[in-house]
Amino acid sequence: MKILVIGGGGREHALVWKLKQSARVEKIWCTPGNGGIAGDAECFAVDAGDVAALVALAERIAPDLTVVGPELPLVNGISDAFAQRKWPIVGPSRKAAQLEGSKIFSKEFLLRHNIPTAKMYGAYDSASDAYAALDGVDWPLVIKADGLCAGKGVVLAQNAAEARQFLKSAMEKNELGPGGRRVMLEETLEGDELSFIILTDGERYAPMVPTRDHKRVFDGNRGPNTGGMGAYSSDELLPAGLRDTVISTIVEPTLKGLAADGIGYQGFLYVGLMLTKEGPKVLEFNCRLGDPEAQAIVARMDFDLSEVLADVAAARLDPAKLRWKAGASVCLVLASGGYPGKFEVGKRIEGLTTTIGDNGVEVFQAGTKREGDSIHTSGGRVLGVTAAGHSLEAALTLAYQAAQKIHFEGMHYRKDIGAHSGRLKAAGD
Ligand code: AMP
Repeated sequence: MKILVIGGGGREHALVWKLKQSARVEKIWCTPGNGGIAGDAECFAVDAGDVAALVALAERIAPDLTVVGPELPLVNGISDAFAQRKWPIVGPSRKAAQLEGSKIFSKEFLLRHNIPTAKMYGAYDSASDAYAALDGVDWPLVIKADGLCAGKGVVLAQNAAEARQFLKSAMEKNELGPGGRRVMLEETLEGDELSFIILTDGERYAPMVPTRDHKRVFDGNRGPNTGGMGAYSSDELLPAGLRDTVISTIVEPTLKGLAADGIGYQGFLYVGLMLTKEGPKVLEFNCRLGDPEAQAIVARMDFDLSEVLADVAAARLDPAKLRWKAGASVCLVLASGGYPGKFEVGKRIEGLTTTIGDNGVEVFQAGTKREGDSIHTSGGRVLGVTAAGHSLEAALTLAYQAAQKIHFEGMHYRKDIGAHSGRLKAAGD
């Protein structure tokens, strides 16, 4: 099997790494890839959001299967373009990807199908209407830009001044781009978050192991939001009773709702949940695996990913094929100094070779570039040190030990990945 993977982050490196382990996989290409992926796959410098260029590439290399990592190509319609040509691909259509591409579409979908979610106060495409609506809400308030905003589209406003500031930058100054012109105001939910990701072929589905990510840049969930500073997976995150509730009140009504609306959904569906006192509620849908959740999930996969993904593309998913390693896994993100604000790139990364593959620890690369024999930083989130173990503690120990062997100027990472329910798990130094 020859497989094309679209994307160039840590998530895609983890997918490439896992796909490569399959005896049936003969060749892997990746676009655009990164410094680490280039060691495992042939990379092409094609932008992941450029559907026409991706179609032209696939025409030339004729992959047996294409796997889409990020949301942009999906929202831009890559799955539709491939389906039209009968080329096997894993990832939802443009219409289905609106569950992530439009927060208002997704909220209306949830409300229409009575799926538990935060109450919406309203959706607005004029700034003056949005300002006026602030009079009738409770605080703190969640404001969401409707479209894709590279992780900057959601704010938890403590008061009207903070809300006005966000609305002004999104709707009047266009600082978030076209995705910020419409906004939605919603109720703030309280509780622990959980990422519940399923793989579906439109009819059947299989859940991934549960994960939790850490979005804030600093320990103790302080500082600004990032793309994700780490994630962990452990079965303890999702006791059987909660799992049944999530499936019966959220996952199955979502799949039924999509079918009732005539929207075929195929690929990964990420359900971001808040575990509130009243039960689990949907915070968001993503139309793909999360990053860094994917790294933690892949580390626990005990099945042939290429076979399962080919089954999804052929609409014959067999959920029984997905088997998981018992225990836990963790992914620590090593980031550039200054990230998520301004940061410098081009720093040489030391210590990678002594770490990769040691004791079941894998270092998935994200913002990296290969220069001759060395690897340099090229982005904010640089590496994802990923480990699996028989317990969360064991996985954390392995990952933090490995992270200490790696160095680049300005490198920083959180020391409390995997800390939960008030039990602070500060590992490493
Ligand atoms: P979203 O992109 O919709 O997931 O929002 C990003 C993050 O904002 C989530 O992971 C939550 O931490 C937070 N968030 C979103 N919606 C809410 C809400 N209604 N109440 C509390 N926090 C929220």
